[in-house]
Amino acid sequence: MSDDYREVEDELLEQQDKTDKDASNTSKAGKGDNTEYEDVCFICRRPESKAGRMFKLPNNICVCDDCMHKTMETVSQFDYQGMLHNPNISFVNLADLQGDGGIPNKQKLKKKKPQESAEPVLDIKNIPAPHKIKASLDEYVVGQEHAKKVISVAVYNHYKRVATNTMDKIEIEKSNMLMIGPTGSGKTYLVKTLARLLDVPLAIADATSLTEAGYIGDDIESVVSKLLAAADNDVEKAERGIIFIDEIDKIAKKKNTTSRDVSGESVQQGMLKLLEGAEVEVPVGANSKNAMVPLVTVNTRNILFICGGAFPDLEDIIKERLTKTASIGFNSELKDKYDKDKDILSKVTVEDIRKFGMIPEFIGRLPIIYTLQGLTKEMMVKILREPKNAILKQYQKLLELDEVKLEFTDDALEAIAEKAMERDTGARALRSIIEEFMLDIMYEIPKDDNIGRVTITKDYIQGTGGPVIDIRSNLIKEPMENLVEVVAE
Ligand code: ADP
Repeated sequence: MSDDYREVEDELLEQQDKTDKDASNTSKAGKGDNTEYEDVCFICRRPESKAGRMFKLPNNICVCDDCMHKTMETVSQFDYQGMLHNPNISFVNLADLQGDGGIPNKQKLKKKKPQESAEPVLDIKNIPAPHKIKASLDEYVVGQEHAKKVISVAVYNHYKRVATNTMDKIEIEKSNMLMIGPTGSGKTYLVKTLARLLDVPLAIADATSLTEAGYIGDDIESVVSKLLAAADNDVEKAERGIIFIDEIDKIAKKKNTTSRDVSGESVQQGMLKLLEGAEVEVPVGANSKNAMVPLVTVNTRNILFICGGAFPDLEDIIKERLTKTASIGFNSELKDKYDKDKDILSKVTVEDIRKFGMIPEFIGRLPIIYTLQGLTKEMMVKILREPKNAILKQYQKLLELDEVKLEFTDDALEAIAEKAMERDTGARALRSIIEEFMLDIMYEIPKDDNIGRVTITKDYIQGTGGPVIDIRSNLIKEPMENLVEVVAE
């Protein structure tokens, strides 16, 4: 019987090849092109992408390999001679099941379009020199020259090691980094830009949500599982990725506590082996390990860890240290010299960070320490205008689709920057300020086809006037008191 079964299968395969050829001929001829649709198994209902190759039976019926085998096996054990003569058994005619014209497209799943993978700007397998990495960063990140330089060199060294796999032979330290800078100065943005340029997966985690395993919160290894998810569950890709842990200053050792320090020191302890390089078992496609999810082992040896934080009281610690040194000897009158020093953070040393509450073993695993400056008004104006994806460019592009030109006067940009400086949240404030006053513009402009140009002025930002509207036909320039009035006309 099993020979018969082979024969039937061979025959079907032959037929299948023929049908495939026919199908390709028809699609070449431009008729009935069905390549956008996946076949679905008639028996188990799984699509081709899950069930694998399909046997194509007459009348557009498809059966997957598994179901075909199962059917054949069942059939081969059956005594059909007796069955054929049994009047109580009637065979189903498959053709009856489908009505006219075979199985409609409804029963098939539309194939997902394959995602176009863009060429990365910087190729990590052939990592470009640090100055080229910095030049790419310059297109997006304003200022922070020192930070960009340090990060470029570190990334260059790191990926060169990864590519040549010299990590084992010569024990070179990993280029994990500690980034210190006030909120909104571009820490996350810098890392995000870097990961995008290098086309490596990036996981961003918040240190405050991390706890030692066994406590409520995300355990430390969850950062690796986030990275795996960012790498589409591709372990190899994840192992070359970047993990950014924000708010790292929040897990500083608390001073004078007698209770068990769940979120501070023990989290730092728990992170040590990850930072150094360890094999961790992480759940695939889930946040926590449980019986239902498969586990994979990810090696963190080549993962670049970047920790960032604002370290709010660090300035005082640095000042204290500097004044102490200064007051020894002749220079004791310089005590308040550092009070006005805006760039005091850049004088940070490992000792200061330890005093802040980070344990020495932890700092030791982040050999590259650098600081970002607080943003100045000039930098804010540049951030508005210059980066490749600057906020102003985004709005200009949006209005361009309505064939309206959007312009900002220089003093308007300065006024926005001043407003943002008052909020003390760095560049983050810029977007919310712009969004506030662009709302009216974005609402009113598309109403009137005559508008050809809108110029945002300082008066409009400060609430003392309206934007300048130019009518498309004659472009008469006259400042309007209120945009809403103009549009209502
Ligand atoms: P933080 O330092 O608190 O992590 P972010 O990196 O999240 O701050 O910055 C917030 C936003 O501000 C970013 O999304 C980015 O658009 C903008 N931004 C901040 N700093 C810069 C900079 N130096 N150049 C360009 N944009 C910046």
